[in-house]
Amino acid sequence: MSAGIIDGKAIALRVREDAAVRTAALKAAGVEPCLAVVLVGEDPASLSYVTGKEKALAEAGMAGRDIRLPASTTETELLDLVARLNADPSVDGILVQLPLPKHIREDRVIVAIDPAKDVDGFHPVSIGNMVIGRPGFLPCTPHGVVVLLKEMQVKTDGAHIVVVGRSNIVGKPLANLLTRRDVNATVTVCHTGTKDLAEHTRRADILIAAAGKPRLVSGDMIRPGAVVIDVGVNRVEDPTAKKGYRLVGDVDFEAAKETASLITPVPGGVGPMTIAMLMRNVVESAENRSSRA
Ligand code: NAP
Repeated sequence: MSAGIIDGKAIALRVREDAAVRTAALKAAGVEPCLAVVLVGEDPASLSYVTGKEKALAEAGMAGRDIRLPASTTETELLDLVARLNADPSVDGILVQLPLPKHIREDRVIVAIDPAKDVDGFHPVSIGNMVIGRPGFLPCTPHGVVVLLKEMQVKTDGAHIVVVGRSNIVGKPLANLLTRRDVNATVTVCHTGTKDLAEHTRRADILIAAAGKPRLVSGDMIRPGAVVIDVGVNRVEDPTAKKGYRLVGDVDFEAAKETASLITPVPGGVGPMTIAMLMRNVVESAENRSSRA
């Protein structure tokens, strides 16, 4: 039996439509949600992410302040810019696209962003608030995964969820959100120190791959009937593709869909949710501004 395919694009569209409705209400009250998007350098993948975010902002009726800086920008110059954006009352969110050029310390830049404008949810204050369940911005990709599971009415209460990956932006926050009472799962986190990865993944009711390794998860690593969420986005060479490459996840999709009950495709699964959750965070930040006025 072939798995049901989770349509991340359709679910993301609903989240974005909700953000657009809330934006219209804010604008009617004289508040225009605005996200400053800062790109340093010309990394092609980063450029395409930034373009996607700017397009989504425009579609939701929000303002985007696009700031493109040369790769030679110094850390001090970037920190000065962040300070100006922090102080600008018309800016609701600040997104500094990662990765930054090697000479700029990412952690310095992340902590410089005002947590009230940290719509990426990467600031230690945002992470701390998430862990202890206080209000704050949730990181977009992990939050997007949780919304996907809820929208698909996947039973998470008491489920065993295995997360492959423990990065600060995906695996760790995701594991945390999944143990919240509203999700109520039992979570196993795997990483490169995990002894027998397949032994863990085969015990998962829900398997979430976020390792950044193409085809790390093969069909026989999935328990029959499991739900598979593939966060991975990897470029693999493909001479038949127009760009010379195509995007694949961390899961061998063709094999996995024969075993899983539900699965996200790559692209079109988790990716669209990340941008949608960003839109939600920006509108929430603008609503916070509006309620303070
Ligand atoms: P990352 O910082 O490179 O972290 C990868 C994690 O996977 C690490 O914790 C690593 O373990 C673990 N890992 C790598 N190889 C493994 C293996 N063979 N067995 C077990 N664990 C392994 O990557 P990331 O930023 O979390 O991103 C992960 C993937 O998600 C990437 O493909 C990225 O492009 C994608 N992504 C997608 C979205 C989206 O919107 N869809 C957003 C963000 C990221 P160690 O800690 O031991 O090294």
